[in-house]
Amino acid sequence: MAPVVEKKCRVCRNRLHNTSVCTRCGTDYSLADAAEAQAVVQLAQVASYLYRNNHVQALRTLDSLQRLKKNPALESLQQYLRYFVLRPH
Ligand SMILES: [Zn+2]
Repeated sequence: MAPVVEKKCRVCRNRLHNTSVCTRCGTDYSLADAAEAQAVVQLAQVASYLYRNNHVQALRTLDSLQRLKKNPALESLQQYLRYFVLRPH
């Protein structure tokens, strides 16, 4: 079972109990939370496209994901796919 990660407000360090708005300082994390959820969906889509050998769509989705939430660990995959998609066939 995955450990439960307790989220804290980045402004005041208050615990965020299943809410996107800090109850202490009012900082709203709903946009960041939505982007995080979208990034998870897009990463699953990238894996699905790779599984089906659809490198063009995998790269498009990965580029979109990286604009949404930059993940340095995915940069080498991005470079590899760019090479794969752009090379002459
Ligand atoms: Zn706060």
